[in-house]
Amino acid sequence: MRLSRYFLPILRETPKEAEIVSHRLMLRAGMIRQEAAGIYAWLPLGLRVLNKINAIIREEQTRAGAVECLMPTIQSADLWRESGRYDAYGKEMLRITDRHEREMLYGPTNEEMITEIFRAYVRSYKDLPLNLFHIQWKFRDEVRPRFGVMRSREFLMKDAYSFDLTAEAGRHSYNKMFVAYLRTFARMGLTAIPMAAESGPIGGSLSHEFIILASTGESEVYCHKDFLSFAPPPAGIDFDDAAALEAVVAQWTSRYAATSEMHDEAGFAAVPEEARLAARGIEVGHIFYFGTKYSEPMKAVVNGPDGKEVVVQMGSYGIGPSRLVAAIIEAGHDDNGVIWPEAVAPFHVGVADLKVGDAATGKVCADLVQQFENAGLDVLHDDRDERPGAKFATLDLIGVPWQLLVGPKGLAEGRVEVKHRRSGERELLAPHDAATRII
Ligand code: ATP
Ligand code: MG
Ligand code: MG
Ligand code: MG
Repeated sequence: MRLSRYFLPILRETPKEAEIVSHRLMLRAGMIRQEAAGIYAWLPLGLRVLNKINAIIREEQTRAGAVECLMPTIQSADLWRESGRYDAYGKEMLRITDRHEREMLYGPTNEEMITEIFRAYVRSYKDLPLNLFHIQWKFRDEVRPRFGVMRSREFLMKDAYSFDLTAEAGRHSYNKMFVAYLRTFARMGLTAIPMAAESGPIGGSLSHEFIILASTGESEVYCHKDFLSFAPPPAGIDFDDAAALEAVVAQWTSRYAATSEMHDEAGFAAVPEEARLAARGIEVGHIFYFGTKYSEPMKAVVNGPDGKEVVVQMGSYGIGPSRLVAAIIEAGHDDNGVIWPEAVAPFHVGVADLKVGDAATGKVCADLVQQFENAGLDVLHDDRDERPGAKFATLDLIGVPWQLLVGPKGLAEGRVEVKHRRSGERELLAPHDAATRII
């Protein structure tokens, strides 16, 4: 991507309305723009990161056996009357009336709709287990939208829904998502701690929130420090092996961890003092097992092995990709800008031509860009007619992990500079060596 032809509206000033660092940096780096309270446009740079996060989520959901679909954002109120949640949901639900006076709503979540889809098609226990997910915009009319996309009114959610014949099979489905979540967040460079949680308006008995520790987080959390050193489950884990999954879940629930709503002073006091962590955290995911809460009133049933009708067991599993963009920045930044984990960086490598118009720097930059593109890396080619200082600042602000600085002085000695954003290390290398260093 040539920066001269890209759309990267960087702000010089620090926006006053932004209270936390991720919000400030997302505005400054031209990732998002507020269009109304809690409603954001995703500008090209922000969208790149969001898409990378979605790709990781999608891969891990698929690996765990979930199947992608896409449900609409607008739902009919009638569906929600069937479950009894239409009135119960309250003011967070954005209610809409169409031209025929039909009551509609902008979906805050999709339990009802997925149950309706399930009951329309699935008749036999042989079609179970089934887990369907989508990545779709949600709307919740939050009382206090704030911190940019961290708590917005319109936000992206990956929500998955599992259907099983028995409670035991339902538990296996829950564990699949639990394990998939650990892998998903680890791949984004985050340590997400599963914490015993209240199930809130979704309902149900078994529930975990996945929390990233961060001083700007809105949740008050209490946990054992051991979580910070647990290794995430390997890619090769067999999701059909119920015992293997149960072992992972057992390890990750073996230590005290709770949000303030579930906090139990006595339980926490039993944790050795030096291992106690009372901190703030960001909820990036939340999983629920709620059995027949929706399938019962909405009559989602299958024929069991004995031919008798069985009400299916359900769970639902949410992740907030748009909130994650902000959470990842909270976890990785310095005074100069964002420090992305490579897996979600908008560009892997930046190539800055420090003297645009110079034939030698131009040629070397073009060659490098070509090599990186051939290797399948996302490259940002800074070919703008700008001061070198502005180019360095841009690459640091938007957090490009590998930066190649190509200037006439260095080239005269056959060298370009390679800078690693995270460590700050710099090396002078021949262009070919610089390329092989990164590819
Ligand atoms: P919170 O406690 O932050 O209000 P929630 O418990 O209401 O979140 P869930 O219903 O559990 O949210 O939704 C699943 C996921 O969707 C959350 O874990 C979070 O990552 C994301 N999410 C929820 N509300 C928002 C929001 N207003 N803005 C951005 N992401 C959100
Ligand atoms: Mg909420
Ligand atoms: Mg919550
Ligand atoms: Mg929640």
